[in-house]
This record gives sequence, structure tokens and C-alpha cells, in this order.
Amino acid sequence: MHVFSLIWVMLLLRTLLIMSLALAIPVMAGEVAVGPAVSGAGILEDTTPDPDSRSAEVAVGGEEAPALPADPKPAVPLADAVNAAVGPEQSIEVLGATVLPGTSQRLSWSATELFEGVPVSTPVLVINGALPGPTLCLTAAVHGDELNGIEMVRRVMHDLDPSRVSGAVIGVPIVNVQGFRRGSRYLPDRRDLNRYFPGNPNGSAASRIAYSFFTNVISQCDALVDLHTGSFERANLPQIRADLRNPDIITLTQGFGSMVILHSTPALGTLRHAATMAGIPAVTLEAGGPSQLELNEVKLGVKGIETLVNTLGMVRKMRLWGEPEPVYYRSSWVRADNGGILLGNVSLGSTVRKGDLLGTITDPMNNARTELRSPYSGRVIGMARNQVVMPGFAAFHVGIQTDEAPVDEPDDSAAADTVSDSDDYVDGMSE
Ligand SMILES: [Zn+2]
Repeated sequence: MHVFSLIWVMLLLRTLLIMSLALAIPVMAGEVAVGPAVSGAGILEDTTPDPDSRSAEVAVGGEEAPALPADPKPAVPLADAVNAAVGPEQSIEVLGATVLPGTSQRLSWSATELFEGVPVSTPVLVINGALPGPTLCLTAAVHGDELNGIEMVRRVMHDLDPSRVSGAVIGVPIVNVQGFRRGSRYLPDRRDLNRYFPGNPNGSAASRIAYSFFTNVISQCDALVDLHTGSFERANLPQIRADLRNPDIITLTQGFGSMVILHSTPALGTLRHAATMAGIPAVTLEAGGPSQLELNEVKLGVKGIETLVNTLGMVRKMRLWGEPEPVYYRSSWVRADNGGILLGNVSLGSTVRKGDLLGTITDPMNNARTELRSPYSGRVIGMARNQVVMPGFAAFHVGIQTDEAPVDEPDDSAAADTVSDSDDYVDGMSE
């Protein structure tokens, strides 16, 4: 009798714990994005308890791999990929100002003259070199809680001397200033600005902000590097995300030196996607996690960008950073199958072999432990921080190193041998 009632009480306690975990997780994971398709009336309906369903970028998996070029080496000379490197040095007309060759200016951009009745502006740093060349744009904090990129832009701009630059660099350290002020990834209406580019002058607040930024600033660029971090308590190994089906973009990625390159198709509405559609080769530089400044990640990012500035021929004598890293065409998420406390056994950048232990999930009630193992040999290019997770949570992002492009024709035997990536959304890790 005693034994049975004890078991019953334990089952009850366990149920309560699971319920409380399920309730706690959405709070811990922070805010909920509102996608472009969701009307204002639907905002409350979007508070899904699944932290993995909010923002999505489709990673290319084995079965979905697009037709990639057989040779990932630069297909187009950099000066052609990033055009406009011809002609004499010119003044830059931007945001109502004229920036003369060989000078720099700190301008400011406001999405609207009045936002919520209060002027909101953000600095736009323009360095117009004394010599002709392309205009490279650096944007950061499109997600307001992603701090590493803000510091990267500051450092890169500070190191440039206009009298020695060929071309121009436009740096926007904080695109989403409203989110930044609140320490939030999103705009005040919970919309994700990076789902609304290139915007619409008559649309939602997010669309209008996106439109203003795109037409006033991005339209000036010949190439774009948009800086991001992981999100929702996940961190990314410094990496370039790029659509490697585009030869100009392949060329751009080769300029960053020894930085991991991940092929990824940009989600609709991202700045990267909109810029690329407008003929501006664009990549995302991901480094670290949100809501903190991580100096090692910042330094790696700066090194990559400065190497790019150098390989674009825009400066001389800046440091060059080694040989390009192998391209990671494919990647796969390893997800939690059980809820509990996730503890990582690897670090960002760890090289793993198929079957290696990535981390464990421990049920805090019965102490049962499950293991997450790598389905591939590869490298840990993104991972969750230690935290409470629920089943389905994307915990480890394993990049699969390959020098050769996937074959176009589907190979069923090979596909069956690997984990299907068909549902492989990059969750909150997306740009
Ligand atoms: Zn981001």
C-alpha cells in the first residue's frame, strides 16, 4: 500500500515538473517574433511554446542541395563581382549629404521623422576613399540584441584612413535602434525587421523602416556584409553564410580568409536576400551569441572583414588572413529528443567524428540521462548554451566539410544513409 501511494506521488510530482518546465521555457527563451504574414490581430496567437518555430532560415541539406558549382573557387574576379571599381574617385551622395573623396563623415539615418512620436536616428559612418573603388557596406544589429557586430563595425571603421582607401566603406553599427535600446532582437511591435526587406513605403512599421533603410543606405552598396549572432541562448562559431549558387557571392566569400563558410539560402525578407535580389552580392557574418560582447568573436570578425577589405583591393598593408577555409556546403542540426537540462560536451569549433558525444540531457526528476551524438563527422559551428530544453530543441549545429559539390541527381542509397535535413530549419540561429 505504501509502495503504491509513493509511486503515485512520484508520478504526480513528475507530471507537475514537466508542466512547469513547459511553461518556463517560453519565458526563458525570450520574446516571440511576429512573422510578416501575421497580421496585427494575430500577434497573440503566435506565442507558440516551441522556441524553434519562430524565425527560420532553411539550411541546405543533402536532399535539398541546390545545383552548386562544381568548383567552389572564385568564379569571377573580385573586382568584377563587386563592380563599380572603375572610374575616377567620386563624391558620395547619401542621406542628403555629400561625402568628398578622401574624407569621412558621421551621418544619421531616421526611418521616419517621428517614430512613436519621438525622433529615432542611428549613425551611418561613411568613409569615402581618396582613390576609386567599390562601396562596401557593413550593417550590424538588424537584430537589436546582437552586440558583437556593433563592435566589429566600430573597429573596422576606426582602422580605416580615408586618404588610403580605394572606394568607400559605409558602416551602420545599429540598424535596429529601437530594438537595441530595449535589448531586444525585435522591433517594438515584436516584428523581426530582418523579415521585411526590401520593405514597402506604405506597409507596416517594419516594412517602412526596411524600405527607408534599403533605399537610403543599401542602394549605395556594391557589396554587403550583414553582421549577426546566434539567438535564443545559442552561439555561432564565426562563419560566413552565403548563397553559393551565386558566382559573385562565392567570390565575395573567398575574400574573408580563414573563416568557415556555410552555404545557406537566405530567407525571404532578410537583408541578405533583398540585397542579392537587387544585384548587390551579400553575405551574413555570424559570430557568437546575443546580448553580450564576446571579444574573441569580435576579433575574428574584424580580422575577416579587414581581410576582405584587403582582398577587394580597397586598402594595402592591412593584415591578410591565410588560406580560405574549406567550404561547408552542408550542415545538420542535432535535436533534443527528451526534455531536461542540456549540458554540452563540446565547444564551438570542436571537430567531431560520427558518433561522438555532443552533449547530454538529464531529466532533473529521475536523473535519467540521454546522449546527443553527432550524426556526421564535421565541426561544431553552432550550439546552444547550457539550459533547460524541451524535445525537438535544436542543440548542436554540425557543419559537414566537403570539397566537392553535391551531385545533382538524387542518390537514394546515399540519402538513406544520412540524416534527413528536409525539416532542418535553423531555428533561432538564423540571421
Ligand atoms: Zn541576427
